[in-house]
Amino acid sequence: MKAPPRPPIAPVVAALPASRPFIAPEELERTSGRTDLLRLGANESAFGPSPAALAAMRAALERIAWYGDPESVDLRAALARSLGCGPEHIVCGGGIDDLLALAVRVFTSPGDAAVTTLGSYPTFAYHVAGYGARLVTVPYAADGTLQLSELARAAADSRARLLYLANPDNPSGSFADAGALAAFRAALPPECVLLLDEAYAEFAPAGGIAPFDANDPGVVRTRTFSKAYGLAGARLGYAYGHAEAIGGFNKIRNQYAVNRVAQAGALAAFGDRAHVARVVSETAAGRAEYRALGERLGLATLPSHANFVCFDLGSRERAEAMVEALLLRGVFVRKPGAPPLDGHIRVTVGTPDERARFAAAFSEALAAPGAKPAPH
Ligand SMILES: *Cc1c(COP(=O)(O)O)cnc(C)c1O
Repeated sequence: MKAPPRPPIAPVVAALPASRPFIAPEELERTSGRTDLLRLGANESAFGPSPAALAAMRAALERIAWYGDPESVDLRAALARSLGCGPEHIVCGGGIDDLLALAVRVFTSPGDAAVTTLGSYPTFAYHVAGYGARLVTVPYAADGTLQLSELARAAADSRARLLYLANPDNPSGSFADAGALAAFRAALPPECVLLLDEAYAEFAPAGGIAPFDANDPGVVRTRTFSKAYGLAGARLGYAYGHAEAIGGFNKIRNQYAVNRVAQAGALAAFGDRAHVARVVSETAAGRAEYRALGERLGLATLPSHANFVCFDLGSRERAEAMVEALLLRGVFVRKPGAPPLDGHIRVTVGTPDERARFAAAFSEALAAPGAKPAPH
């Protein structure tokens, strides 16, 4: 029998590699045959969501036959009150990842340049490639900080329309304060939008987050309920910025990307300040413990302002081997993908019990021959 004709895949998509930004722990469980991985690789909250959020989501489940409010009016009103702006400055999406795809479409055309740090959060680069825009990268400094002046220069040189910065950054954990960001914003070319991903804003130093200027058309910021709020599986994030930029998102977004259970959970979670404060302080304690663990094991750690810490294994090979060695011991972690940070492993702050289990597995794996870097 003759094969049916094969309609072509669009050229931009046909040219993409089959790679994905992440290998999920579920896939690692399927391939390793384990079902009980200690999940310290995706920066999920070990402390879970607020009990008030869980109760609100259970109640909302009764109405799951109904679509959610496509405008997320209740949630946007609460977020707007907190940001001191009107709701027209906020758009909700199915997590920041969803909003990053929209941002690429709102601000670039295929062929336009988009700038980011090499090895930073991979989903931005994924969407840039998927839309046929052109990725321009600047490496991290050797100490894991972002090279802000080089990023601004790359934006000018490439006539970029979009520049992505995670602050606090993932995977480095580094943080640029309000003053540094204001100077950076001022150095950007006028046709380039700063896409500021604040997925870890709650963990940043108190008072360190730049104030929101709703009148600045050149900055769009994103936040999520996935990290400090412990709702990663619910998929809810938001972008905020100038009303005209947010209006661009509203013209192309998937109207029902945010489900009603997530809306109810996020609204309740946002109202439970005490829970988030507890998560933030327990996370700070966990970071200090990881730092001390690194010292005990003779490994440097990167200063972190997020819910994870990077340990320096000394080389890409050792870091890759350590990810495998930990997986064999039932622990899922990830590692930065590009130099100069690719000799590190990145470990999410767990509960005290999870941290103890990680410390035991890490110490044991390091004791294996060849696992440890030479002292430097
Ligand atoms: C985890 C993470 C995200 C993902 O956020 P979602 O709202 O779950 O899509 C986005 N940006 C950074 C920097 C992250 O680390």
